[in-house]
Amino acid sequence: MWFYESLYPDIKIGIKGNCLYEKKTRYQNMKIYSTARFGRMLTLDGAIQTTEKDEFIYHEMLTHPVLLIHPNPKKVLVIGGGDGGAVREILKHRVEKVYLVEIDKEVVDISKRYLKKICGNAFSDKRVKLIVDDGARFIQKTKEKFDIVIVDSPDPIGPAKILFSKKFYTNIYSVLNSKGIMIRQSGSTVLQKEELRTNYKILSKIFPYVSVQIAAIPTYIGGFFSLLAASKSINLYDFDIEKVEKKIKKIKLTTNYYNSHIHMGSLLLPTYIRRLIS
Ligand code: SAM
Repeated sequence: MWFYESLYPDIKIGIKGNCLYEKKTRYQNMKIYSTARFGRMLTLDGAIQTTEKDEFIYHEMLTHPVLLIHPNPKKVLVIGGGDGGAVREILKHRVEKVYLVEIDKEVVDISKRYLKKICGNAFSDKRVKLIVDDGARFIQKTKEKFDIVIVDSPDPIGPAKILFSKKFYTNIYSVLNSKGIMIRQSGSTVLQKEELRTNYKILSKIFPYVSVQIAAIPTYIGGFFSLLAASKSINLYDFDIEKVEKKIKKIKLTTNYYNSHIHMGSLLLPTYIRRLIS
């Protein structure tokens, strides 16, 4: 059967596959497909979340740049991310504790069952604590502090809408340690310009340092996809390639997309994106 993602009424992108699982959970309509070119694919409310064949680009870019630029990340909070791909990459670093706050436990359960290639052993690692809760509510009430906060959420619809609000970002600022960094996806730089512009603006009012990184991820339609990072005291553009190389060697980091040159290159923005955020 064909799966179509329709970002707008005039755009429909299709991938053919077999639907292996389908469920309307308390929060969203979840499906797992098996496809010829992208392997298994998770969709929520008609939007592609991740696929076995291109997830590495997104998950590596969501994690390694912030974990490597932070001087000593020990405690990491992931909001969303129920497929486990981001946690799998975080665990390659010398972190002590990773909290995964996912609103829908059924996404975690189904990922363990159908997306083993993506989550690996992330959910059974002793350093990982799974909390089933709304990320916005968790961040408002927690007394814990974190070095890194990663918002691995879908687009701003349904339960994820609140994860794009000013209050949510202000609360993230409060739970970050003094050298803390947060990162989130902010959509296609062509098809979701407003999402990038608005979130960049909001974050710039709260954090002294904000950066935009880009990467092309085939199943996230619309050309260059954007990631927004914000930091309390580290200039995210002040990038020392040798220092990062040293850290990569020290932890014997193995990746499929990320490397120090990609890190640096992802910060170089085409003119249309520079204009968008200026
Ligand atoms: N990489 C994906 C993307 O950009 O489309 C995101 C993948 S991950 C599966 C997104 C997860 O965020 C989903 O499992 C969803 O249940 C979770 N989520 C949505 N809203 C949330 C909220 N308010 N708090 C915590 N998790 C949330």
